[in-house]
Amino acid sequence: MEYSVKVDNLTKNFGTLVAVDNVTLAIKPGQICGFLGPNGAGKSTTLRMLCGLITPTSGQGEILGLDIVKDAEKIKSKIGYMSQRFSLYLDLTVLENLKFYAGVYGLDSLQAKVRINELLDSLSLREIQESLAGTLSGGTKQRLALGCAILHNPKVLFLDEPTAGVDPVARRSFWAIIYSLSRSGTTIMVSTHYMDEAEQSDELVVIYGGKIIANGNLAYLRKTALSGELLEINCVDMTRTINLLNSVSDYKSVNKTGNYIHANYIGAENGVVFTGNLLTNNNILNSDIKVVQPSLEEIFVSLINKEQVIK
Ligand code: ADP
Repeated sequence: MEYSVKVDNLTKNFGTLVAVDNVTLAIKPGQICGFLGPNGAGKSTTLRMLCGLITPTSGQGEILGLDIVKDAEKIKSKIGYMSQRFSLYLDLTVLENLKFYAGVYGLDSLQAKVRINELLDSLSLREIQESLAGTLSGGTKQRLALGCAILHNPKVLFLDEPTAGVDPVARRSFWAIIYSLSRSGTTIMVSTHYMDEAEQSDELVVIYGGKIIANGNLAYLRKTALSGELLEINCVDMTRTINLLNSVSDYKSVNKTGNYIHANYIGAENGVVFTGNLLTNNNILNSDIKVVQPSLEEIFVSLINKEQVIK
């Protein structure tokens, strides 16, 4: 099978609101697909359609070759789904939660024992297996929720902002697990607001207003998302330089980034030379200018800004 997840023109309307608008995407087996978009962009609705939790208004989707509408029940046993609002039983222990979900997924007692044992180790939950879920930190709750979602060894995993509100150290260890699941063949589609997480994805899908506005790996998005060049300017007086650049229509998105200014130059060809002249001819600053690659955050902001201009 070439793709684990394949979606064509998937659409979901809620009354007159088009929450997901002709979304088309495909994910290869074992890949991590990062799903990015501002709040309300349509990420959760897309993921919920793929998991068979809500029915699309139109369009098609296949998970592992199964139709998301006709085969919704079959799909449920082959996928894992974890949302922000994951439902752990807070008055049960870690072990009891895992046992409960093993029952939900229909594992027999031997399968459950073996699998829970594996997960207690791989998710670093063994030492706290007798703790009540309600007493765990946010990051540990998330690991447990992930454990509950992958008890049945799903081939495809949908994660809807799984690390929202979790501290950076816990997010990192959560992603180490995601990464190892992917390397062992699990296909993962994960929505996130965190750009450092999204950068670890093999493929990125950016959604805005229900529509996919960019799709590809990070290198591809770096090449295509920005018009013109991103310049990094090292200068003495940042405020003056920012004001200067903002006064010229050839520059967009002029921002302070650490000790530098980043500015998107959208002027004529050989713009970099022109930029240097602009600054030195004005005899304003002793500047050091180079072309740099945009960060994912800069790509994301640029994509969203473009859409807002179009609208
Ligand atoms: P995201 O996950 O990107 O934040 P959602 O998929 O949750 O976005 O929401 C997309 C749009 O659909 C939003 O405008 C949201 O208010 C709307 N929406 C989501 N679920 C429902 C629902 N059950 N009924 C009506 N509108 C909904």
